[in-house]
Amino acid sequence: MPKRPLTRSENMARIRSRDTKPELLLRKALWAAGCRYRLYCDLPGRPDLAFLREQLAVFVDGCFWHGCPVHYSAPRTREQFWKSKLANNVRRDMAADDALISQGWQVIRIWQHELKDIDAVVKNIRLLLDPSDSAVYSQENTRAVMKISEQTASYGFSGRNKDDETNWYACGCGSSDVRVLAVKGHGSLRPSSRQSPESAELICRTCRNIWTAQVFFGDKN
Ligand SMILES: [Zn+2]
Ligand SMILES: [Zn+2]
Repeated sequence: MPKRPLTRSENMARIRSRDTKPELLLRKALWAAGCRYRLYCDLPGRPDLAFLREQLAVFVDGCFWHGCPVHYSAPRTREQFWKSKLANNVRRDMAADDALISQGWQVIRIWQHELKDIDAVVKNIRLLLDPSDSAVYSQENTRAVMKISEQTASYGFSGRNKDDETNWYACGCGSSDVRVLAVKGHGSLRPSSRQSPESAELICRTCRNIWTAQVFFGDKN
């Protein structure tokens, strides 16, 4: 880090580095939908977006850094380092959520992969901003961002639903708002991956239950 003051371009580069692409995509779509937010508010966990009047904090969580149960991929090197990094990130996210909620905020965490369906994400944010928004309600509800599963609850996951990446993991409490805390072995949790880790330690963000799930894809059943 340079000791001298930053030049203007250095400063701009720094600011831009916070504006990661998926986040920009969401911001554009929200703006187009008439939703007005604040950026980088000084709130617990530094939400990516915040709606001050409605007290809604929005986080966009990267699938790797925040332990996406569909896409987390365990690096081949520095196993211990990544393991504690991931667990720390997940626990810090939950602590930030608790702090926000205790201050009267609603929190929504959006997986980076969910931004592929940007309309569904915007719709869910609009519903949280204004539950009486009938224009939003009348649209067909494709997928809830909060991911409370209507599917049969089951512990752990099997990769059998290869084609459906949305409902192949769930907690026994019925929530599928599940994060990876740690994995044993290397490879990706993505159902279509060639190599998967042996097992994954999962935490449910709804009931805080922690369990270890075997990971197996394909025909092993
Ligand atoms: Zn993901
Ligand atoms: Zn649970």
